[in-house]
Amino acid sequence: MSHKTDAEIAHESPMRSIGEIAAKLGLPEGKYEPYGRYKAKINPLNIFSQPGKQGKLILVTAINPTPAGEGKTTVTIGLADALNRLGKNAVIAMREPSLGPVFGIKGGAAGGGYAQVLPMEDINLHFTGDFHAIGAANNLLAAMLDNHIYQGNALNIDPKRVLWRRAVDMNDRQLRNIISGLGKPTDGVMRPDGFDITVASEVMAVFCLARDLADLKTRLGNMLVAYTQTGTPVYARDLKAHGAMAALLKDAVKPNLVQTIEGTPAFVHGGPFANIAHGCNSVIATRAALHLADYAVTEAGFGADLGAEKFCDIKCRLADLQPDAAVIVATVRALKYNGGVARADLGAENLEALQRGLPNLLKHIDNMKNVFGLPVVVALNRFVSDSDAELDLIQTACAEYGVKVALTEVWGRGGAGGEALAREVLEVIEQQPNRFGFAYETDSGVRDKIRAVAQKVYGAADVAFSAEAEAEIAALEKNGLDKLPVCMAKTQYSLSDDAKLLGCPSGFTITVRGITVSAGAGFIVALCGNMMKMPGLPKVPAAEHIDVDEKGVIHGLF
Ligand code: ADP
Ligand code: MG
Repeated sequence: MSHKTDAEIAHESPMRSIGEIAAKLGLPEGKYEPYGRYKAKINPLNIFSQPGKQGKLILVTAINPTPAGEGKTTVTIGLADALNRLGKNAVIAMREPSLGPVFGIKGGAAGGGYAQVLPMEDINLHFTGDFHAIGAANNLLAAMLDNHIYQGNALNIDPKRVLWRRAVDMNDRQLRNIISGLGKPTDGVMRPDGFDITVASEVMAVFCLARDLADLKTRLGNMLVAYTQTGTPVYARDLKAHGAMAALLKDAVKPNLVQTIEGTPAFVHGGPFANIAHGCNSVIATRAALHLADYAVTEAGFGADLGAEKFCDIKCRLADLQPDAAVIVATVRALKYNGGVARADLGAENLEALQRGLPNLLKHIDNMKNVFGLPVVVALNRFVSDSDAELDLIQTACAEYGVKVALTEVWGRGGAGGEALAREVLEVIEQQPNRFGFAYETDSGVRDKIRAVAQKVYGAADVAFSAEAEAEIAALEKNGLDKLPVCMAKTQYSLSDDAKLLGCPSGFTITVRGITVSAGAGFIVALCGNMMKMPGLPKVPAAEHIDVDEKGVIHGLF
């Protein structure tokens, strides 16, 4: 097992030129756009204009996240490496990291150990600039909206009912709530305002759900940005902003191609929040992956109650995708945490706590199999502190529950440590029935859709709606925006809306405090708790330890 840092392992790994990686996808020179030696963008027009494959789509999801870290990205990368080792043709489709977490709490988003995508510094910092382009498009709309008010306000926008906020890709709590337009009369119209981190912008969600540039433009135009003094919705298209916004995004929409340590091609593209948005990489990247390879391995954010549910009910529904299997990542540590063990004690064997935490895993297995109808494999992501008895306990429980489980050691061993998992995944795709379906139909009422997710997926007894949420549902119905899928914004730590209710709680009520709509992305957001859209930095930001030497080599990044 490795005790090197992720950065050390990454630095020691020789990279192939990006042309060699593109060739593995059948893309000769001219069919990819190099960004330096080790990154490229792929123009979707160059992919979809030629006949393609119909790859199998494998979703990697997990039990409820804990501070212990589960390893979805690591397993996603290692599984694709393992499939290639077995002679299959596999590619990854995953999210791009935001700058915010990089400088805030230590922890990368490019995998870990021997299952990483490279070049990890670039991927974690700026990468190909997509997020800056998304921020610019967001802020162009903000500028055009305020300019519209300043220049006479022909649409009669109510400055107190502007929904659109500004965006920057930084954890900057100082900008969370601001007054903009201070100064002289020529300095704009003073109004309450604020910034969200770029990944929380609806432009990010739109970007990730759009099928192509034309669809992107339509969705950008459909974004609800304000209400008039008489309560009429104002959309981005009313401000004629969507064309220029799409122009800013024309290169960003091309999926980014990089490589894993073992040379597996990986699309790393788009990264929306997983609470107020759907938490998956771009539809364009996923479709490109399925067109170019026999197996596409992808990841959804947070646990299966949020990530996998939205992957199925929002992304797959809107993009007509059909997953072929779900891999649920579980760890001994996280299950012990779910069984009540304090974070500091997770290294010590504790079979009783593990047994108590196990129902969390079983609930997610049950959901993926019976709510969404998918073949399931559990990836037991091995940590050095796990005891054999603990690993045995989980494997035995899974076998008794009738689900395939594979001990997964990709963090320590790379693709070789994922071969058992890859074999199980191939087997369930071949042998188990696939009855893929959704948790609800979009033409049901808003309350019914939310109740379906809460009861079927979370195991809730009921759902309560605040008076504010009721009023917002009525407004959605009035404005014809009620037939969209619902995006549940709740804590990732529990199946319930109470972060402290670990394991597999029952008898609880989910409280919907508010409803918003991301009309361009195409979903209704149900707010079940306070969702932070502009995080702050911790007392000791990770940025204090990041440095670059005179050769341009970055230090202190994970
Ligand atoms: P997720 O995608 O679920 O958030 P990641 O794959 O990003 O999780 O992993 C979170 C952190 O845990 C990373 O720093 C990764 O290196 C580490 N990690 C993952 N699997 C293991 C493992 N088996 N042993 C030790 N560390 C691991
Ligand atoms: Mg991840």
